[in-house]
Amino acid sequence: MSQVNVIPFHKGSMDMKDLLGGKGANLGEMTRSGLPVPPGFTITTRACLEYYKAEENLTSQQKQEIATALTALEKETGKQLGSSDQPLLVSVRSGAVFSMPGMMDTVLNLGLNDQTVLGLARLTDNERFAYDCYRRFIQMFSDVVLGIPHYRFERIIDERKGQTQTSSDTELTAPDWQWVIDRFKKVVREETGEVFPQDPMEQLYRAVIAVFDSWNNQRARIYRKIHKIPDDLGTAVNVQAMVFGNLGENSGTGVAFTRSPSTGEKTLYGEYLINAQGEDVVAGIRTPEPISSLKNEMPEVFEQFQRIARKLEDHYQDMQDIEFTVERGKLYLLQTRSGKRTAHAAVKIAVDLVQEGVIDRKTALKRVDPEQLDQILHRRIDPDAHLNVIAKGLPASPGAASGQIVFDADKAERWSQEGKKVILVRPETTPEDIHGIISSQGVLTSRGGMTSHAAVVARGMGKPCICGCEEIAIDLKKKTIQVNEVVLQEGEELSIDGGTGEVIKGIVPLIDPELSDEFQKLLRWADEYRRLSIRTNADNPADAAKALQFGAEGVGLCRTEHMFMETERIPLVRSMILAETQEQREEALQRLLPLQKEDFKGIFEAMKGLPVTIRLLDPPLHEFLPNMEELLIDLTRMQMTPDTDPQALQEKETLLKKVRTLHEFNPMLGHRGCRLGLIHPEIYAMQVEAIFLAAAEVLEAGGTVEPEIMVPLVGHVNELKELRKRIEEVAKQVKSKTKYQIPYTVGTMIELPRAALTADEIAAEADFFSFGTNDLTQTTFGYSRDDAEGKFLHHYVDQKILPDNPFITLDTAGVGKLVSMGVNLGRQTKPALKTGICGEHGGEKESIFFCHQSGLDYVSCSPFRVPLARLAAAQAALGKSVEED
Ligand code: PEP
Ligand code: MG
Repeated sequence: MSQVNVIPFHKGSMDMKDLLGGKGANLGEMTRSGLPVPPGFTITTRACLEYYKAEENLTSQQKQEIATALTALEKETGKQLGSSDQPLLVSVRSGAVFSMPGMMDTVLNLGLNDQTVLGLARLTDNERFAYDCYRRFIQMFSDVVLGIPHYRFERIIDERKGQTQTSSDTELTAPDWQWVIDRFKKVVREETGEVFPQDPMEQLYRAVIAVFDSWNNQRARIYRKIHKIPDDLGTAVNVQAMVFGNLGENSGTGVAFTRSPSTGEKTLYGEYLINAQGEDVVAGIRTPEPISSLKNEMPEVFEQFQRIARKLEDHYQDMQDIEFTVERGKLYLLQTRSGKRTAHAAVKIAVDLVQEGVIDRKTALKRVDPEQLDQILHRRIDPDAHLNVIAKGLPASPGAASGQIVFDADKAERWSQEGKKVILVRPETTPEDIHGIISSQGVLTSRGGMTSHAAVVARGMGKPCICGCEEIAIDLKKKTIQVNEVVLQEGEELSIDGGTGEVIKGIVPLIDPELSDEFQKLLRWADEYRRLSIRTNADNPADAAKALQFGAEGVGLCRTEHMFMETERIPLVRSMILAETQEQREEALQRLLPLQKEDFKGIFEAMKGLPVTIRLLDPPLHEFLPNMEELLIDLTRMQMTPDTDPQALQEKETLLKKVRTLHEFNPMLGHRGCRLGLIHPEIYAMQVEAIFLAAAEVLEAGGTVEPEIMVPLVGHVNELKELRKRIEEVAKQVKSKTKYQIPYTVGTMIELPRAALTADEIAAEADFFSFGTNDLTQTTFGYSRDDAEGKFLHHYVDQKILPDNPFITLDTAGVGKLVSMGVNLGRQTKPALKTGICGEHGGEKESIFFCHQSGLDYVSCSPFRVPLARLAAAQAALGKSVEED
């Protein structure tokens, strides 16, 4: 059966998105609803995949279908490709199923050659324009199709500007461009050994192939990796009759959003350039005018555009990002798509659309990506701070950031790998800079507008960004920026506020975010639909209070080791570990007891009676002692110093001896978790007593408490059985001391495969299970997290040996299977067994979808991820699944 490779716009529609890509489907939909779209056709994603199979050439059927579609396009426009009387010029653009702005390649003005350029000059009565188009075409085609670096051509243009003593492209005349074109052609001959292709059909086929190939370029791959877009979809290619925004002062081109992509405000938002081609706006070479000025410059066009924008938004029921061109006063739409937006805007738009009666609540909840909510919770500059503002640019992506100035993407990446925080400062960014943007805290550019590359990419990533900050002179050679008298070198500290556009010298104090009414509203809607309960991982009252404010319904994991690590407590903890006798150890523990009690009391109070799961000490004891190698060095130094105090020397030696005794070959699988509690019962006994005493004090003060005592790293039911018995004994003792009957439960973490496999046995001793998927991932894969992430895991993900880092996204096939098995087996024994997850996966969208599907009762995550978890849990309940996402 022969398949369709090419579909004209007037036959396309939104439901053909898989075949036509997002852009092609939209062009089809717009054409069919009668909007002024230049005609054209889409070469399908299926053709692209077939091309990959055919190994680097278009099939003869594909070529034939392209030729047929082209003939129809020629008929429709009354122009012909290659004709010198009525030359048809086309654009050749990529268009994948998921939008990947700027990541793949485009060729404009295709169809120009030494003959057709004359026709174009005649037709437009503008020789300069025609040669300018031709040189742009050679440049783009050479870059995209022939792989000749851009700078070879830029140098020639600069040379001509030097000769003619001009400074901008617009000052070059038709003969200048002819001179430039001659030189361009020589470069092509030198670089490729062939003449610049003159046959427009050859140009077209080669451009289509290059766009197909650009699916696999490095920046597109990186983009797909970040946004989790599958690599095997391929791209469609749109071939469209060119319209020109650079035909003089009554022409122009621009990009506009139907609502602000930055704040979500319902107002037309965008910018345009008079006498320019589309790439000039996106590339940020000239700083464009705000769309509102179009009202004065071209009132009729503005009026028409506004009408169409409203119509498009109504049609798609979402905020649209529209590209348009005005050719000699006539408006054309080049594309519309759902606009990328900041998290603030996403929330506001979703809630506003519900209130405007356009969409329902369920749709609104599905519209906002939970991962994006992180952005809203970003910190901002303390309004009381004194700021040394040195310049102001366009507020392109909100949030504040500080870091060391760095001028190129590679260095940004290197420095960030070294642990430095950097701000990437560039005249403008291109898709080649994407790794630098990823590595930086924020981006500052001196050129470009709100829709420039830097702005779009930073917004998508939730990074602060300022664009078009023209006051700043960037000297890439000297590696400095200068604003008036202030000169800053690479490595110096700079802050940016992407919400106001302010560039600030030095580091600034940041404060926690406030949550907008819309944000609260959306999360309240989420609460109505979700089934999973949301808890938080917190081990101090401040974090617990923050999480409560974000909507947490309890503490799912309070790690007690952090309390032991506090600087002033370390000597006490060490004396407990170093104790020679049971009495000495008990004494040290008795001194720790009141401190632990206060810790727990603070958290109980902060959580106002909600359940608090406290995990007994987990890590091996040597973690609280100094590092063995450092101790050895210290000791050697002391031994070599003649007047060392003998007592100090002896203490050091004892310490080293103890560290050596506690040393383990593999601490991750060693004497930790409940094993520690069973061998040193007095430690857990102290902790449990502290929990009950704290609870009693809260009850005494008229409060309520719901402590849940959690035993870590159980692998055999007998471990839990024994510890449960001891916990109950302490409970009795405290009751007799305080007279308070503390309501409490005892449960365990399931973080070893054996625990999941024997969950039916373990459930007999447990009131609840909390899946510790950090350890469960380590022990299921047999990876130690630190070693894996430092050594081979990135390679595994790059090479697609693993689909994701399993420490970030739950490995549903393996670790997830153990979780489901644990839940089911546990409930066989105890149908009402409470189950949750407290590994880091509890705050990750896809893992939350999985937890919902597996029937867990709650997820627990860090305080700042609680809102994300509320939304993801609602989406899960509304039917989003791991596969679908
Ligand atoms: C876990 O293992 O998932 C867990 C929450 O415990 P920790 O990360 O403290 O080992
Ligand atoms: Mg663990």
